Amino acid sequence: MLIFLIILWSVVGLIVFRLILFKGPYSKKVEDPPKGIIDMHCHTAGIGTGGSGAVISGNLRDSWKYDVYLRSFGSSDDEVHEYGDQILVDKIVDSIQDSEYVDGVVLLALDAPRDEKGSIVEDEMEVYVPNEYVAEQVARYPELYFGASIHPNRPDALNQLSWSKENGAVLVKWLPNIQGMDPSNERYITYYKKIIELDLPLLVHTGNEESFTRTNDLLGDPELLRLPLSLGVKVIAAHVASSGKSEGYENIDRLLEMMDEYPNLYADISSLTQINKRKNLGKVINDKRLVGRLLYGTDYPLINTVIVNPLQYLLNLNLKQLKDLLFTRNPWDRDVKLKSALGFSNDVFETPKEFLRL
Ligand SMILES: [Zn+2]
Repeated sequence: MLIFLIILWSVVGLIVFRLILFKGPYSKKVEDPPKGIIDMHCHTAGIGTGGSGAVISGNLRDSWKYDVYLRSFGSSDDEVHEYGDQILVDKIVDSIQDSEYVDGVVLLALDAPRDEKGSIVEDEMEVYVPNEYVAEQVARYPELYFGASIHPNRPDALNQLSWSKENGAVLVKWLPNIQGMDPSNERYITYYKKIIELDLPLLVHTGNEESFTRTNDLLGDPELLRLPLSLGVKVIAAHVASSGKSEGYENIDRLLEMMDEYPNLYADISSLTQINKRKNLGKVINDKRLVGRLLYGTDYPLINTVIVNPLQYLLNLNLKQLKDLLFTRNPWDRDVKLKSALGFSNDVFETPKEFLRL
């Protein structure tokens, strides 16, 4: 009886709480999302099975994160051993083929941390996804586009850039906090000139990084991007720098202040619905400086973890939307519907296709 009363009061309390505090979406205008979307920020990974050359370090494999990641890919350690790392890519494609809204993804390679001479820093490397492997996978499926990752310390970096472009790369991805490059390093000017010549945008993680067991978050400061921006590189600041602070200021505010100064600066909305970044959603959706500069991305497979759950948005979504989201099994459809219902405009979903000319 007591249990029953507690449950009843909790439910009543929750309903009253929601009625009083309901805020609705972050934007006044909510539209039905468009179809034919491209997700420009999708990860794969691997342990080297099936000849992929991919690596997950012993440290990460021993951590609880390893199982969570494989589960978020809809797979398991047994499965990657049996079918090879390619199984993770096959599952992405199955899911895209089944999606109502998303037609394709940019699949990202991830270069290793490299020292001044370009050699891999083995004891800092947690995840490595080689360009050759991603290029090979992308060639298997029309739904996939190649996102290359080339550390600028590599002695063959310029050749790697050309090779990637020839093999279909649509952008280059950096994760400075993990890979250890400082975008403001003048040694990288020739690299920047090369990616301008090849017309490859540079997708750079900005803000803190929380997916690995170690990180150097000083390198997530958006201010470090002034050098490539001033040279004319098209830079996409991943996650709108939506976490962490640099020199006492929120990274997102440091990025927003640069938007007017550099028309070649863009940002992606991947991972913004995660519990640790949602506080910035209202700002990202409404800031005028970001109009026309935001690109839709997911940061898959992280959209399949508990840190992204529609129930967090009890005060922003109506009950019909909540129910629909809870019953949407396809991760891409769920992500599109959630972001759209929260107030991201259709233009954000349509931009990757135009921007990357796909
Ligand atoms: Zn990512």
